[in-house]
Amino acid sequence: MRPALLDPLFASLASLPGIGPKTGELFAKLLGHESIDDCRVIDLVFHLPHSLIDRRNQPGIMHAPQGAIVTVSGRVDRHQPPPPGKSSVPYRVFLHDDTGELALTFFRAKGDWLTKSLPVDEQVIVSGKVDWFNGRASMVHPDFMVKASEAATMPLVEPVYGLTAGLSPRTLRKAVEAAVERVPPLPEWIDGPLVARQGFPAASNAFSALHHPCDTLDLDLQAPARRRLAYDEFLAGQISLALVRQTLRRVAGRPVTATGALSEPVLAALPFALTGSQQTAIAEVKADMATDQRMLRLLQGDVGSGKTAVALMAMLAAVESGGQAVLMAPTEILARQHHATLSKMAEPAGVTLDVLTGRTKGRERDQILERIESGETNIVVGTHALFQDNVVYRDLALAVVDEQHRFGVHQRLRLTAKGISPHMLVMTATPIPRTLVLAAFGDMDVSKLTEKPAGRKPIQTVIMPQERTGEIVERLRTAISEGKKGYWICPLVEETEESDLMSVEERHATLAGVFGNAVGLVHGRMSGPQKDEAMLAFKSGETRLLVATTVVEVGVDVPDATIMVIEHAERFGLAQLHQLRGRVGRGDGASSCILLYKGPLSENGRARLGILRETEDGFRIAEEDLKLRGEGELLGTRQSGTPGFLVASIEAHGDLLEIARKEAAYTLEKDPQLESERGQAIRTLLYLYRRDEAIRFLRAG
Ligand code: ADP
Ligand code: MG
Repeated sequence: MRPALLDPLFASLASLPGIGPKTGELFAKLLGHESIDDCRVIDLVFHLPHSLIDRRNQPGIMHAPQGAIVTVSGRVDRHQPPPPGKSSVPYRVFLHDDTGELALTFFRAKGDWLTKSLPVDEQVIVSGKVDWFNGRASMVHPDFMVKASEAATMPLVEPVYGLTAGLSPRTLRKAVEAAVERVPPLPEWIDGPLVARQGFPAASNAFSALHHPCDTLDLDLQAPARRRLAYDEFLAGQISLALVRQTLRRVAGRPVTATGALSEPVLAALPFALTGSQQTAIAEVKADMATDQRMLRLLQGDVGSGKTAVALMAMLAAVESGGQAVLMAPTEILARQHHATLSKMAEPAGVTLDVLTGRTKGRERDQILERIESGETNIVVGTHALFQDNVVYRDLALAVVDEQHRFGVHQRLRLTAKGISPHMLVMTATPIPRTLVLAAFGDMDVSKLTEKPAGRKPIQTVIMPQERTGEIVERLRTAISEGKKGYWICPLVEETEESDLMSVEERHATLAGVFGNAVGLVHGRMSGPQKDEAMLAFKSGETRLLVATTVVEVGVDVPDATIMVIEHAERFGLAQLHQLRGRVGRGDGASSCILLYKGPLSENGRARLGILRETEDGFRIAEEDLKLRGEGELLGTRQSGTPGFLVASIEAHGDLLEIARKEAAYTLEKDPQLESERGQAIRTLLYLYRRDEAIRFLRAG
């Protein structure tokens, strides 16, 4: 049981003040969850700032540089409301200091609110970004406005967090602040002498320090608070891995002997020949599964490299030897798609597949569970619903996990805790360095798909300003009339007040005006069946242009789609753009990707998009992305350390990983059941970093 101490941190994120249904969706997106119901307060505590705004800069109005964030102390001169009936004209309030005049500019503002907060003749302090135009200074929607008498209420140094489109920095900051306040004093789980040697602050103080930086040094990866949390994260990981290993050693695997009875007809019916690296990967997997040691293998391959076919061959081998296999996908859409694709591929072998997700309910669900338990079903595709307690497998020989970045060691543990020990194949498109694989998974073998299937043509990528949208629509008109298909990606579901982005719904409406029924729509707020229907219509060709949000980011496979338009490309991370672009170029038709940006682009922004034009190599893109990321201007980037970790960075904190590894081994040797006072504290640590699945093994003995 989780210690009650941590309850406030594991309360639903929606329990924080200021998070409603609408902002909830944005928070979910920011934190990489599908819905707000999956977000906990702790997720926000781990959302660390990447930089800070220093409001101590008070150069005087005349000396404020263009675009700089400054604080101005001045006297209010006059108000200039918009003329009656013209709400599109902004409301302006003029103030001055010794050096000059500043116009505060408000769109759709309430006049009485402004007269109250900025009374004429009052001495006020405002802070925000200064814009110069025709020799006049203005500040649009200041971040802060206080009367001089209340100056102390304005924070002079403010942390800046990674955002997602539509979420205002202020809303996010308030929520983070509330989340951090819920961090209780935590028991010390690190050995005293080590704490002293490293100069670590207490864990709860470390959280507070990172969210209340005084200057940029406090945000450095080597700041004591950051190092403390990085160590904690490594320690939690190493302890849980050690617990897993302890247990796995006791359970033998189930040897799988492939006969070829099923895979051969399937192979023969495939419309393509396997690539060399697919064949090698399949051979490696089969060799692993043939022994009674449990396979734990990572299959790395860039988008489009054909991981699914490898998975199918592995699953068929499991079925040939009389066992069952599951494939787990990170989302509902992907699970359904995999089910459709794999069912079709497996047809020649006469193997039928079931699909099980959170959406599978009632009678249908009961029937599927029955078929799984009786062994009538040999292959099940689904989401994490596959591993819930009430799912009983007759003889699970292999579990394949697709796009693992959302899944960790937890699922493995859950399975083992159920008393089954299938072979595991984890598939990912994310390049993960060897050290990281070790840290995240412990010992794991790796197969790589290094070649793309033959016949793929390079995707032609172009970068264009949004102003040329009309031209793109014309090009699409021609392409669609020639029978081609494409995606049109928008960052937002619907218009929000704070954003000038085109929403997916609005874009759908304008494109439907041009293309009529040929345009489909899919986004995260649609119900599951609605999403399926939209995907199916696009796949079958009933619709030829699919307007979508990033719900199609991972794994969606419609090989005859050849055009990808991404609106507001500057808002996306490079890896994300690479994944999105990977939705085209999957068949033998020539494909193109059009990245539309809203200018002006910063130099860094231009460089980032340029990389995509230069290369399709996911590994290189990830590398370059990391290099450029330093500037922290990337919207929607979680300021996390290494992928898979919340705060730790293998590169920056490698020394700590080594210490954590040793400490974990030593701790478990002395206190294998984690019963001592420190052992109890370590249990708390495991819960805090969500490594608590490992605790089950302690009870199981
Ligand atoms: P990913 O590695 O991104 O999961 P998929 O498994 O979805 O890639 O495969 C991408 C596309 O390439 C699919 O349409 C699949 O049918 C096709 N494909 C897979 N292997 C080959 C191959 N050896 N030759 C040609 N096409 C292939
Ligand atoms: Mg895939």
